[in-house]
Amino acid sequence: MRIDIITLFPEMMEAVLSESIIGRARKKGAVEINCVQLRDFALDKHRRVDDTTYGGGMGMLMMPEPIALCFEHICEAIGEKPYFVYMSPKGKTLTQTRLKQLSEMSNICVLCGHYEGVDQRVLDEYVDEEISIGDYVLTGGELPALVFVDALSRLQEGVLSDEECFSLESHYDGLLEYPQYTKPAVWRGREVPEVLLSGHHENIRKWRRKQSVIETAKKRPEMLDEASLSEAERRLVDEIPGEKSE
Ligand code: SAM
Repeated sequence: MRIDIITLFPEMMEAVLSESIIGRARKKGAVEINCVQLRDFALDKHRRVDDTTYGGGMGMLMMPEPIALCFEHICEAIGEKPYFVYMSPKGKTLTQTRLKQLSEMSNICVLCGHYEGVDQRVLDEYVDEEISIGDYVLTGGELPALVFVDALSRLQEGVLSDEECFSLESHYDGLLEYPQYTKPAVWRGREVPEVLLSGHHENIRKWRRKQSVIETAKKRPEMLDEASLSEAERRLVDEIPGEKSE
């Protein structure tokens, strides 16, 4: 997959995306990520990309033309129009299910907004989808884009090693992950569940599945409406009270 990120802060993005698992995946070519400086497509010598809003209001808005020029430049470089995502608090909240669908695409372009956001006309002209990372407002689209690109990249083949495999993790199959333990076997008097020390793979699998169901019932009971559970598991969750939220 190729991901192009349109941003005013490419160095900030590179600082994160060059490290750790995503940094290694980029180096070995499992995912291609390009951070493109929007100011390079500004129309004046001051490299301005924002202006005041029509109708009044305090903040500045990102102008349509630099974004259009930048996006068209990316389309030309790829040879086709990538799926264009705008990170926005007005978008649909990102889920693992949507990430799985988007991870099948070959090219995605991500626009990071700033200030009061982006002129509506360029969104109407080019953007395929607005994605939010939650019902709160950040100062810019860079952190949301990093969340999105990280979560998308780790679903690409060759990004995670077998040990880091995503298929048993929270949200992959509609459940939260079971509790995990490392050494020592006893820590400050707290013991690792005995079954995990047994070496009995089938019993461990069953224990983990049950704990996943219990964890989800306690912490995110609404997720169980969509999860595929056996009759025995449904009976089990009926007995578990959900954790109260603050
Ligand atoms: N005026 C906008 C509104 O009320 O919807 C908020 C603009 S916000 C201060 C600036 C930029 O941050 C947005 O254009 C968007 O790219 C990004 N942003 C802020 N919160 C976000 C969120 N929850 N999810 C995704 N992007 C977000």
